[in-house]
Order: sequence, then structure tokens, then C-alpha cells
Amino acid sequence: MASERPNIAILGGGIGGLFAANALISQGLEVAVYEQAPELGEIGAGFFLTPNSARQLKRLGLGPAIERWGSLVGEGSQYLRHDGSHIAKVQVEDANGWNATYGMHRADMIELLVEQLPEDVIHCGYRGIDFFQNEKSATVIFENGEKVEASVIVAADGIHSELRPFVYPPSTPVFHGTISYRGLVHREKLPEWPMDRWLMWAGASKHFLVFPVRNGKMINYVGFVPADKEMRESWSAKGDPDQLRAEFEGWDPKIREVLEQVDQTFRWALYDREPLPTWTKGRLTLLGDAAHPMLPHLGQGANQTMEDGMALAIILSSIENSAVPAALAAYDNLRRERVAEIVLGARQNGLRVDSMSEYADLNKRDTELAAHADFRKQLYAYDVVPDAEATAAALI
Ligand SMILES: Cc1cc2nc3c(=O)[nH]c(=O)nc-3n(C[C@H](O)[C@H](O)[C@H](O)COP(=O)(O)OP(=O)(O)OC[C@H]3O[C@@H](n4cnc5c(N)ncnc54)[C@H](O)[C@@H]3O)c2cc1C
Repeated sequence: MASERPNIAILGGGIGGLFAANALISQGLEVAVYEQAPELGEIGAGFFLTPNSARQLKRLGLGPAIERWGSLVGEGSQYLRHDGSHIAKVQVEDANGWNATYGMHRADMIELLVEQLPEDVIHCGYRGIDFFQNEKSATVIFENGEKVEASVIVAADGIHSELRPFVYPPSTPVFHGTISYRGLVHREKLPEWPMDRWLMWAGASKHFLVFPVRNGKMINYVGFVPADKEMRESWSAKGDPDQLRAEFEGWDPKIREVLEQVDQTFRWALYDREPLPTWTKGRLTLLGDAAHPMLPHLGQGANQTMEDGMALAIILSSIENSAVPAALAAYDNLRRERVAEIVLGARQNGLRVDSMSEYADLNKRDTELAAHADFRKQLYAYDVVPDAEATAAALI
């Protein structure tokens, strides 16, 4: 096995695991994905795809699929005060003026990632429960009694990662006192709604967000409000549409227009974790929320996860099995610092858009929201590929 290319087993068939599988296969590597659920699926909610990961999806040949499923947002995107008055435009282009910022339905994202994978890559009904490794290989044990041996195990199994404690001692997730109500409204119910923009209303300890998904066929809304009591991080449950409407009573009537169409909504408690000092141990590495769960306030959780996958694929592309631990350590080194900054930046932006702490001074809030465009330009312009290629070259 010493002179063989590594084969990779990925635990978790979410956006992270499926993107990584596509990226690794594009490098000619052998990959299998093991997902605990009996079939792949996603919740009825949207997320924001930004140029830093859209660039990577296009590299994998998924550009046309993004066009087909996504909703490009542009010029009219803006931050508003709770009463609807304008604060600033929202940056959607990268520093080179490239706009690839899309509202995406999470289920569509899963589908477009699966569509491109060979049929035998995904194995559902495999819940990883244990792990061991030796010098030459690593093994995951599944609840169904099976075990899988590979040169590399990638734990892409989300915020509650089962394999994360094999990399670093367990830590407590950080609750941020906020819940989000999320849901979708069919476009026909709001035929006049502008489908070319991302809109955010910022108010006292709350904010509200609307953007289009599914190629303009649906409108995604998210209402962030203080939680009355701490909830488990995985906790998501039906919410009460009337309670949601009451939370935003007296805000811009445009919000009410959307909320009047809501007949079902879901709630999530918002947690992240402190950045880890390492993501890797030997032949096991973490990716996506397993490595760096973050608050949604920079819209980067899924986007960073895809950067992880592209970096990992390039770094593993030209090594032999014996070099796996060094390659995974190099991936870890390349990614950890950038992502930790974003985890902390998402916390700070949450305070900003909820007008909390120092942002109770609304002039400061509004000035910083306007200035945020410069940060986003750089965030979106980042291309992980040249850095990953340099890292890979240094390994040979
Ligand atoms: C309210 C909210 C809003 C968000 N908005 C955005 C946004 O606008 N933009 C953005 O980029 N990100 C956003 N995110 C974050 C984004 O959704 C996540 O960062 C992203 O989905 C992480 O993907 P993942 O594949 O790492 O993890 P997950 O999506 O959690 O997938 C993990 C997968 O692993 C499986 N699994 C778990 N345990 C096991 C096991 N033991 N064995 C096998 N399989 C297992 C799970 O079933 C799941 O399929 C948001 C998140 C929240 C909560």
C-alpha cells in the first residue's frame, strides 16, 4: 500500500461531504460517502452562496447547475433599518467586480452535488460510531455493524460530529442567546416581490432577512430573535407563525407582507464552537461544521465548507498513502486560521446586525454596515486553489 494513492471515506452526506466527494473525484481519487440518514435530504430553507465558493463549484463543472437552481442577487441588495429606511448597499461582487452571489435552496444544493457523483459513491444508513487507526490506514465502525477501512477518513458529520473527539477533546458548544425562524414562501403568493436582491432589516436585538431561492420560484425568509430559554443546538422544531409575526410587529410593512403569507415556520437555536487548535489526527481530519460550526451572520458556514473540500482534494491529489498524515496536517494549517477569523467575525457581525453591545449606538452600527463592503470584497475574492496548490507542491 506504501506506493498507492490514498482512498478516502467521508462521514456525512451534507453540503460539506458531498462537495468534498466531487472535488476529490475530480482529482482522480477513490471516494465513498457514508451518511447516517436512510436517504439524503435537507430542510426547507435557503442559504447564501457567495463568489468564494461559487468559483469552486464552477471549477467542478457545476456552473450551469448553479445557474439552473440558484437565484442571482444584485444591485438592489441592501441593509435597512427596522422601519425600512436605507442604511447601505450589500456587497455582492468580489474585489474584482465578479458577482456570483446566489440564494440557494439547501435541498437543491444537495441535489446538484449528488447529480454529478457516480452512483456507487453514496451509502445511506451508515451512522459512524467509533474510529481507530494505525500507521497505514484508518477505520470507522458503523452502528449497522459494518466497518470501513481507508487511507483517509474525513469527518464531515456536522456540529455534533461523532469523530471530532478522536481529534480533540470534547468541547461545549457556545449558545448565543438567539433563535432563527426560517421558511419559504412561494413566489406566486407575492408576485410583486423583487426577486433580484438580498434584503436585511436591522433592529434592536433582532434582524430579518429575505432573499430569493430556486431560480426565483421561492422567497426565503429568516427572522433572528432573542431566545427565551436555551435550546439544544440541534433543536429545530415547528415555530408558531403568529409568534413570528408578533416579533416583527411595528417593523417595515414589507416584512409583514412576507409574514402574512407564512403558514408554517421552523425555529433553530444558534450555536457555534470556539475555534479548535487542530482539525487533524493522523489519518483523520475534520471538514465543515464538524471542524468549525459558525453563526450564520456572515453567511459563510457552507461556503467555507466548500473551500475546505477544494483545499483537501488538491492537497491529497498527488501524494502517496504514506504521506497522508503530513498532507492532512498541511490542509489543517492552510485552512484553520482563515476559518477561525470568519467564526469570530460572524459573532461580531451578529452583534452588529442585532444592534447589540457597542452597536446600540446606531450611528456606529450603520457606519460599520456600510464599511463592511470592503471586508466582503476580500472574503469573496479569495481563491483557495493557488494556496492549496502551493501547499501540495511543498509536500512533494
Ligand atoms: C440558521 C442557519 C443559517 C445558515 N445560513 C447560511 C448561509 O447563508 N450561508 C452559508 O454558507 N451557510 C449558512 N449556514 C451554515 C451551513 O448550513 C452549514 O455550515 C453547512 O450546512 C455545513 O455543512 P456540513 O456538511 O459540514 O454539515 P451538515 O450540513 O450538518 O451535514 C452533516 C451530515 O452528516 C450526517 N451525519 C451526522 N452524524 C453522522 C454520523 N455519526 N455518521 C454518518 N453521518 C452523520 C448528517 O446527517 C448530515 O447529513 C447556516 C446555518 C444555520 C443554522
